Amino acid sequence: MGPTRMSIPEQASYEDGLEDEARIARLFEMTSDLLATISRDGRFTLLNPAWEQLLGWSLQELQSGPIEEFMHPEDVEQTLALLATRDEQPVQLEHFTNRYRHRDGSWRWLMWSTRCDGDTWYAAAKDVTDRMWLERQALHDPLTRLPNRLLLMDRARQALARMHRSNGVVAMLFVDLDRFKAVNDNLGHDAGDQLLIGISARLAELMRDSDTVARLGGDEFVILAEDIENESEAIALAERVLDALEDPFPLGSTEVAILASVGISVSRDSDADPEAMLREADVAMYRAKAAGGRRLALFDESLRQELSTRMEIENRLRHALPRHELFLAYQPIMPLAGGFAVGAEALVRWRPDGAELPAGAEMLPGMFLPRAQESELIVQIGNWVLHTACAQAEIWRRNGIAIPVSINVSARELTELDLAERVREELAYCRLPGRALCVEVSEEAVLRDPERARSALKDLKRLGVSIALDNFGSGESSLRLPRDLPLDTVKLDRALVQSFDRDKERRAAFAATIALAKEARLTAVAVGIETNRQLALVRELDCSLGQGFLLHNPAAPDQLRLRDAAGSVTSAPWRPLVRLGSGSRR
Ligand code: C2E
Ligand code: MG
Repeated sequence: MGPTRMSIPEQASYEDGLEDEARIARLFEMTSDLLATISRDGRFTLLNPAWEQLLGWSLQELQSGPIEEFMHPEDVEQTLALLATRDEQPVQLEHFTNRYRHRDGSWRWLMWSTRCDGDTWYAAAKDVTDRMWLERQALHDPLTRLPNRLLLMDRARQALARMHRSNGVVAMLFVDLDRFKAVNDNLGHDAGDQLLIGISARLAELMRDSDTVARLGGDEFVILAEDIENESEAIALAERVLDALEDPFPLGSTEVAILASVGISVSRDSDADPEAMLREADVAMYRAKAAGGRRLALFDESLRQELSTRMEIENRLRHALPRHELFLAYQPIMPLAGGFAVGAEALVRWRPDGAELPAGAEMLPGMFLPRAQESELIVQIGNWVLHTACAQAEIWRRNGIAIPVSINVSARELTELDLAERVREELAYCRLPGRALCVEVSEEAVLRDPERARSALKDLKRLGVSIALDNFGSGESSLRLPRDLPLDTVKLDRALVQSFDRDKERRAAFAATIALAKEARLTAVAVGIETNRQLALVRELDCSLGQGFLLHNPAAPDQLRLRDAAGSVTSAPWRPLVRLGSGSRR
């Protein structure tokens, strides 16, 4: 009995064992996880069928050659080095990722969990392509595929932390293209996009593997370079960037040369804040730009002073609204033939409490709005301006003065919040018709996000609000009226109007714009008329409305030359002191 009784369990466990193996083999066949054994010299020795499903290759094909044949070239070196790791202890690796090629040519991201025993790696992998794609989306600029600001900041943090191991510095180069807008204007947005892609490729070519080229948006790129010896080396790198961009880029049937401005900030401190470094490089870039095109500037002590003033302004500005330090001045829009205001533009002013300003002095928007535009403050200020201007329009209407009030709206207000909804609420609150308000936007603001800007303007238009294109003809932009915006008015920029005295070409361009505006049934307003000569020239060019210090300064509401419907006036009408030449028209 004894031996027989002994043999029964042995027999059973042998058969159970066979069954276990068959079950394991079935699991191996069925699982959608990728299972494999890999030799140290980089060949698949066993694969489950899930591989065929995922990559489209047969198991025989996958096992026929070295695994690197199926791997993304950028991942080969690191993967083979890992496979060849020698250690007395078994090696275990989690969360290692690399890419494999599908039969159709696309790439799949795999995340591995592996363990090496003797000469074999036992591996399980998961397809994480979707997740990696989402992560990449969140960290890369979709157009150029360069790292975005988030990834740049992360890399900068790592570079700064690594710095204590070397004697070098970390440098950030802020690159801004000087004439990109002109390319967009003259050759169209597709050409602009092609140019940005070409520029990113050229910058990437210039860099070492350890450097990062990122795109912050628009025409702004940042280069992060580590293991740089000192400031001089950072400057030399910036020179190379300027040189590289100067070679013309082929664009369709033409070529464009790009001028750039580069601002440099350098840090030796491994605890430095990457955001602060970026701000410093940005400030230096502005200095380079102000010095004229194709320049570079290093962030230094004088700029540190400027930056601290900027930050102080931003801090004070945070309290400006609750402390009632902001107010609106109104500059009338006047008929050039003389008379009373036909509209008034609200211009924000700031009198900071306790600031070292002469009595009665105030800060102009150019001194503080750029700070507000860098943060959400512009939205709060914009809301206040809208509310205050509507309240003023309501007071005027109640007193029989039915002129529209214009407000200026910046890019962020136009595209980031539901401006039309805010305007609708405010008009309803003040019981104003849409025509009591005009919204002024610059072409530059529209270009930030043309789709959203256009749709916001259309929504405003539906409320009866009129739309003015502001600062037309400023800078280098071509004097071409954008077709697909729902405009009522075009405001010709001060720089354009004031260039007439000297520049006949600009005058001709202005005349052509007025003709086009007429054809498109737009009202033209010439801004910045300071002298009688400018007034005469503008009138000769058949423009009938204007704004300027000669006609009326921006002023408090009770100091404007206005006339109510019954004809009573708040002060005498404005009269031009100009005698027009023989070629003039009235
Ligand atoms: P803008 O919309 O082009 O406004 C006209 C600017 O030209 C005003 O400057 C006005 O004072 C000035 N100006 C008018 N006539 C003359 C003239 O004959 N000669 C000269 N040299 N200047 C003249 P200001 O008030 O400094 O405003 C500058 C810019 O700030 C405005 O330019 C507008 O873009 C922006 N801004 C003003 N208020 C607001 C606001 O409430 N919100 C937003 N987002 N921007 C505003
Ligand atoms: Mg304006």
